[in-house]
Amino acid sequence: MSRCLADRGIDHVVLERGEVANSWRRERWDSLRLLTPNWQSRLPGFRYEGDDPDGYRTVPEVVAFIDRYARVIAAPVQTNTTVTSVRAADDGYLVATDQGDWSCRTLVLATGACNIADVPAVAAALPPSITTLTPIQYRNPGQVPDGGVLVVGASATGTQIAAELRRSGRPVTLAVGQHIRVPRVYRGRDISWWMDAAGVLDERYDQVDDVERVRRVPSLQLTGSPGRITLDLNALTAMGVKLVGRFAGINNGKAQFSGSLRNMCELSDLKMNRLLDTIDAWAMENGVDGEVDPPHRLAPTVVEESPPLVLDLGAIKTVIWATGFRPDYSWLHAPVFDRKNRIQHDGGVARSPGLYVMGLQFLRRRKSALIDGAAPDARDLSEHLKSYLDGRSF
Ligand SMILES: Cc1cc2nc3c(=O)[nH]c(=O)nc-3n(C[C@H](O)[C@H](O)[C@H](O)COP(=O)(O)OP(=O)(O)OC[C@H]3O[C@@H](n4cnc5c(N)ncnc54)[C@H](O)[C@@H]3O)c2cc1C
Repeated sequence: MSRCLADRGIDHVVLERGEVANSWRRERWDSLRLLTPNWQSRLPGFRYEGDDPDGYRTVPEVVAFIDRYARVIAAPVQTNTTVTSVRAADDGYLVATDQGDWSCRTLVLATGACNIADVPAVAAALPPSITTLTPIQYRNPGQVPDGGVLVVGASATGTQIAAELRRSGRPVTLAVGQHIRVPRVYRGRDISWWMDAAGVLDERYDQVDDVERVRRVPSLQLTGSPGRITLDLNALTAMGVKLVGRFAGINNGKAQFSGSLRNMCELSDLKMNRLLDTIDAWAMENGVDGEVDPPHRLAPTVVEESPPLVLDLGAIKTVIWATGFRPDYSWLHAPVFDRKNRIQHDGGVARSPGLYVMGLQFLRRRKSALIDGAAPDARDLSEHLKSYLDGRSF
């Protein structure tokens, strides 16, 4: 957004509570790699030029990449400045920080979609003897006591951490709710390549039937590894991870799971096959069919006959809550929230004049919460912002 504002000649400052790329420096586990390939982090005027476009960046590489971009575009970043409150003022906003106040006519909230780990309230009922960690706190298996681990949530985060803890020799149970299964590589090309080329990731928020529902769809069950492996539930089962249904609650020292595991997996397989059908149709229509491997389908997810509905917590030393993230707008004092405390916006244009938001799930496009979604969203929103500053009405 800073680059797009500069391109439009709009004077601005970027306030950052830590350092550039702070969430990547402070809130990610050690072994994490981007699940998007190197070529797919396209920022305004900046793309990958290395010799491994299909590789997946490590966290230090992501930090270096964002750091370099900030320097190349000479972004006016004021680091170590935490915004503590935002209020509407006569002609804009009053932004209070721990380094003094700012006033501005327009304000872009780019504080991230993943500030807080979304842990279910029932977590409070776990016995205190059990260590609990969120993905923001988790760094590596060395931090986790020996013994059984329950990982709750089977999207990208939960499956990756479950695999890592299983590899460390611990017995791991994975509680599986709604999840989006996809192969890492399909017909010889990365699934991200297909979704990008076929326009799936460019689908706009005003083209889908129920955008609020789509905004809550979990992340793709993907991992970025040098071997380009598909880390789906079958792969985890083969490693010895035990699958159970959605975490439902705790009773008498036992964790309870819903009986929906089979349905969840069948639904996920069905949706994956629909996506692969879309890709095959696109390949056929666009003359790619002959250049790639023939279509194929993955084996259905294997679910045991009667997955356990309870688990004695006596066998569990650690619970990892990989149940999603949410943004933190506790410092924003403006009438822009719905009943569930979610910020209301129309493709990033908030319901308060001159206020914009970025980086949220499906904000304007399916890829809005990916690094690759920032460029088109920033272009659109900076155009709107410029028109607003120029006094054109909406
Ligand atoms: C575990 C995980 C893995 C991911 N993997 C990928 C991936 O493989 N590929 C991909 O494209 N995307 C991935 N993402 C999404 C990724 O976070 C975003 O694509 C990208 O970081 C979003 O950038 P952002 O600037 O919108 O948000 P963030 O990177 O979260 O940046 C927000 C910034 O705002 C600062 N901030 C917050 N509150 C305040 C405040 N009150 N005052 C001042 N500063 C504040 C933070 O310190 C932070 O630096 C992943 C996310 C997570 C959580």
